[in-house]
Amino acid sequence: MTRGASLSLEAPAKINLLLHVEGRRADGYHLIATVFQRVSLRDRLHLEVTPGRGGVRLSCPGSALPEDARNLAHRAAEAFLRRTGLGLDVRVELFKEIPPGGGLGGGSSDAAAVLRGLNALAGEPVPAAELMAMGAALGADVPFFLLDVPAAVGRGVGTELEPVEPPAFWYVLAMPPFGISTRWVYENFVLTTRGPDTIFDPGQALRTMAWKNDLEQVVLSAHPQVGRLKDILLAEGARAALMSGSGSTVFGAFREEARARAAAGRLAGEAGVRVRVVRGC
Ligand code: ATP
Repeated sequence: MTRGASLSLEAPAKINLLLHVEGRRADGYHLIATVFQRVSLRDRLHLEVTPGRGGVRLSCPGSALPEDARNLAHRAAEAFLRRTGLGLDVRVELFKEIPPGGGLGGGSSDAAAVLRGLNALAGEPVPAAELMAMGAALGADVPFFLLDVPAAVGRGVGTELEPVEPPAFWYVLAMPPFGISTRWVYENFVLTTRGPDTIFDPGQALRTMAWKNDLEQVVLSAHPQVGRLKDILLAEGARAALMSGSGSTVFGAFREEARARAAAGRLAGEAGVRVRVVRGC
């Protein structure tokens, strides 16, 4: 590359329509069965590459997030430059809309967008399968965002993916004014053994609306607001209302937009909670 090139792209959030903890690996990582659904709440990124020596510069205007290698977007750019050895400097501008620590996968989606964007700008030097492996090394939710499908079943640590037909819902996102550390949730999670004959089929649970998030047991006692948000959404007619991922966001699924908007209005009085009505995308 003799001159610079740039690209603007969007990084959508995800919600987990269900999340079932199946076991624990010897290294402490939990094995899950989940359904990821992309939704229309998005961070925006602008990428710029110029001939250089592999420097990465990130800025996150209006956000308190770190702009160094603690940020997943920064780490993704470094990983890409390391793998390709390209003589490029990378500049990333990241405009956050997805609240950090909200269980919405914002950091993972930013990382996936940086990997895809840089690969596109550089003429696709990294094959898709290898990009997925690079994503998995950055975070368990990154491969879902690289897959570029509306919804997928995730197994293992969430990186073994199978696309599924997304259900047609409007989602009300209720985002509390605090984030929750995923690590804290898993450290406090108590795995209850189920009988050996209880085989969990996430695809079937999705279709029959048997939506449930095992991680709620940890969060509900520490953050009563999460339970209250669920109760309000159910009282407003949500077909399901649960915490996304490891929290703190709670979502309600509605068949009709008008019901979703009415529920969103009802949530407006909840202290500090940001509310958005979104679609699967
Ligand atoms: P998940 O559901 O994927 O476990 P999450 O949606 O709860 O994660 P993220 O928004 O991905 O959480 O952020 C988790 C933590 O990662 C934040 O507390 C933040 O300090 C750190 N982080 C690093 N980079 C980013 C980024 N680009 N956007 C958001 N958080 C980031």
